[in-house]
This record gives sequence, C-alpha cells and structure tokens, in this order.
Amino acid sequence: MKLKAFLHGRLFLWGMHMNILAVGAHPDDLEILCGGTLIRYHIEGHSITMGSVCNGNKGHRTLPGDKLAKIRLAEAQNSARIIHAQHFCLNIPDCEVYVNREAMEKVLNLIRQAKPDIIITHSPNDYMPDHRVVSELVFQASFHATLPLYNAEQPPHDKITPVLYMDTLAGVDFNPTMYVDITDVFEQKLAMLRCHKSQRDWLDDHDAIDMDEFMTAVARFRGLQCSKKYAEGFRSLDVWGRNRTQRLLP
Ligand SMILES: [Zn+2]
Repeated sequence: MKLKAFLHGRLFLWGMHMNILAVGAHPDDLEILCGGTLIRYHIEGHSITMGSVCNGNKGHRTLPGDKLAKIRLAEAQNSARIIHAQHFCLNIPDCEVYVNREAMEKVLNLIRQAKPDIIITHSPNDYMPDHRVVSELVFQASFHATLPLYNAEQPPHDKITPVLYMDTLAGVDFNPTMYVDITDVFEQKLAMLRCHKSQRDWLDDHDAIDMDEFMTAVARFRGLQCSKKYAEGFRSLDVWGRNRTQRLLP
C-alpha cells in the first residue's frame, strides 16, 4: 500500500470511520459497477457490507435455478472476502422483485443491521428492471428505517443515509458528478470480478460479452473524464436530508 493511502486510511480510522453498505440487485453487480471504490474504502479502513437483493437464479442457460443460486452465493462470498466485507443475499428470485412492502422491509431490516453512513446502489435509470426496483427499494427503505414506529424487528437507524448511485451498465444515460480513481486497485477489481465464474460464462454465452474487456473499457472511459487511467463514476441522491458537506467517496 502506498504511504499516502496508508496515512489517509489511518486519519479516517481516527476521526471518520464509516460503515459502507453497497446493495446490488444480483450477485455480481457491485463488482462490475463499484468494485474499485469498495476496495479503496477497505484500504482506508472503513467497514463494508455488500450483497444482493436477488439470488441470481436465472443467470444461466442450463443449470437449475436453485443450484445456480448456491453457486452464485459462494462466488459472491469469495469476492467479498477479498475486501473483508460482510456479505448478504436477501434471496429474492431474479426477475421476481417488485416495489412492495415485503421486499422493502427486507431492505429496511438490512439497513438497520448494517447501520450505514453511506449506501451505494443502482441508478434509478439502469438497464435492467431488477436494478431499477432495487434502486427504489433502497430509496424507500433508507427513509423508513429511521422511523421508530416502523417495524420493530430491528431498532431504528439513527440517520437518513446519503445514497450514492453507481454507474449504469456501460455508462448509458449516466453523467457522473463524482469520480473515484481506481487505477491502483484495478487488478483487485478484476480479481473480485473473476470470482463470478458462472456469470463470466453466462455473459459470454448469452450476450457475447468478455467481462474483463467490457469493464476495462468503462473504467478507462470514466478515467478519461477525470484525467486518471481508470475510474468509477457516481451521482448522489439529491434530495433534502441526504446531502453532506464532506466528500463521502474515497
Ligand atoms: Zn444485475
């Protein structure tokens, strides 16, 4: 680790340790869209919880769904282990997640357990319906989680948490307002992504996508926009109660 990053990390530890909660729709979304940023949070000494609302049970041509969900859970756990993150899966089947009370309360209880200072999730305009639903669920749940009279299973969270939106897939219709330099951690991001072997095969098979090449192109493009080699882009949920004066990203 570089000295500057090390010192920066220690400063954060002394004064501003944060709990980071990253919520994706499927088991590999976070690695693709914000993996480098999560690695940098880890280097800076913050605590990270990452995982998926859906169990990934439809991302294959031939494997049965329940078997695939187990494989994908193990893949995601292996990836999370690289940055010592807590991992969760809310275990809703792919393409069966909707904005309803049951799903919202699952996310709400997760937020109350993780006690985040920041939540990272999908942009409301991303390409896949599950991603959009998860974005809305996080918006609702992160507000309701603070209400003492809502659902007593977990005690209320003490703050309306800032929400940062990850890039959309391939950056379509997404203009970042904040960037994170991931040049120094790019190989680790690839290593996390490579834990999701079943999806690398599936994307190659179903969409003719080489995952490494795809992700490298997006990171390089975002890097060009902020004068770095590789970067990830973000926007914030810009409504009352969510803004902070300090930068929340690494
Ligand atoms: Zn996804």
